[in-house]
Amino acid sequence: MRFDLLPPREQIVTIMQRIYGYSMTTTSGGNLSMLDAEGDMYITPAGIDKGSLTPSDIIRVRPDGTIIGPHKPSSEYPFHRAIYARRPDFRAIVHAHPPALVSFSIVRKIPNTKIIPQAHYVCGSVGYAPYALPGSQELGDVIAATFAEGVDVVLLENHGIVAGAEGLLGAFQRFETLDFCARTLIRARTVGEVRSLTDEDIALSRERGEKLPKFTPKSHTTAELTLRRKIVDIVHRAYDQRLMTSTEGTVSARVDADSFLITPFGVDRKYLDIDDIVLVSRGRRERRKEPSRAVRFHLSIYRDHPEIGAVITAQCPSATAYSITGRKLDTRTIPESYIVLRDIPLIPYGEQFGDGAALSARLSERVPVVLLQNDAVLTTGRDLAQAFDRLEVAEFSATALIDTSPIGEMVPIGDDALATIEEKFGL
Ligand code: 13P
Ligand code: ZN
Repeated sequence: MRFDLLPPREQIVTIMQRIYGYSMTTTSGGNLSMLDAEGDMYITPAGIDKGSLTPSDIIRVRPDGTIIGPHKPSSEYPFHRAIYARRPDFRAIVHAHPPALVSFSIVRKIPNTKIIPQAHYVCGSVGYAPYALPGSQELGDVIAATFAEGVDVVLLENHGIVAGAEGLLGAFQRFETLDFCARTLIRARTVGEVRSLTDEDIALSRERGEKLPKFTPKSHTTAELTLRRKIVDIVHRAYDQRLMTSTEGTVSARVDADSFLITPFGVDRKYLDIDDIVLVSRGRRERRKEPSRAVRFHLSIYRDHPEIGAVITAQCPSATAYSITGRKLDTRTIPESYIVLRDIPLIPYGEQFGDGAALSARLSERVPVVLLQNDAVLTTGRDLAQAFDRLEVAEFSATALIDTSPIGEMVPIGDDALATIEEKFGL
């Protein structure tokens, strides 16, 4: 979907619903704006319920300052105006106070985005603006001055966050990804020391080898069409449960011995549709489509493991807290975790970027899930349902382990009990 082709009022309402729906703003907090091609600003109204905005609530402000609409524009109109004046490359601004970013804002720290490669690309550079009264011109001046340094997101001291971009979807993705980093870093703090990626590490993630050759499918089997629908449903479910962010998370499923379907590169997970899914057959990709950059290791896995029918990689905050600290995610918490996940090895950073042969060789019936260091959790299954269940169980297990920290130390299931589980469940 070309989100930028929606009329401005619709874009603003859709993104505010997304922000409110994922608990990233309250009824009273936050505001959004965008500039159209004629330089008119569209902005959310002041003090109107952010959970139930409709397009007719959105205010239009002409370049000469004339206000058109049924309400007052956001009380933060001065900072929106000041930012656009200093950053002509921005056409959209997102502001809110999501709890994890407020935590960073009130301890006066900037969340590190170099914890997984994609987060750093999506967020760009992050600045920090000193406190000023909400709605004041002074607040506009300090935020705009920080953006003028060339940063893409600004954390506001004792207030919240402002993200700018060329379009509203891009500004939202920055905002959401930085919030993901903040949530993950807070969890990681309980687990251990965070390992940051170097610029070379991050550059490595862009080197994925030659693109696969193209082909034009002659027809689409019912099995393939059914799988397309299932992949889209699983991605939407994972996104809605916050197991994926809008710009991260890959799902693939086997169609037959030589072909599989995979999610595309660069499509917002919330708006993914059946037409976006890419068929890969005999090492070639469907014409006019761009598969996920992880396609090569998916190819290796389907070639090497005939029993695997689905593969998912995702950046869930709790599992990612383990991946960025390099600590072992101990699955001996409850029988479900041990049975569904088995032992989860940590794979050194970089192995997923080559042809994927080494990564594929790590998987087996005993190792259906791995943690990719500073990247993702990778789950496999005989089908999508099993791979997705493993993703959920991995995230639940990691969350339960992290949440033990204020209440006590985890006591793992004993060796004898594990041996009995292995025997009874035929593991
Ligand atoms: P408005 O409702 O006026 O946009 O204010 C919300 C806010 O976040 C102020 O900083
Ligand atoms: Zn605010």
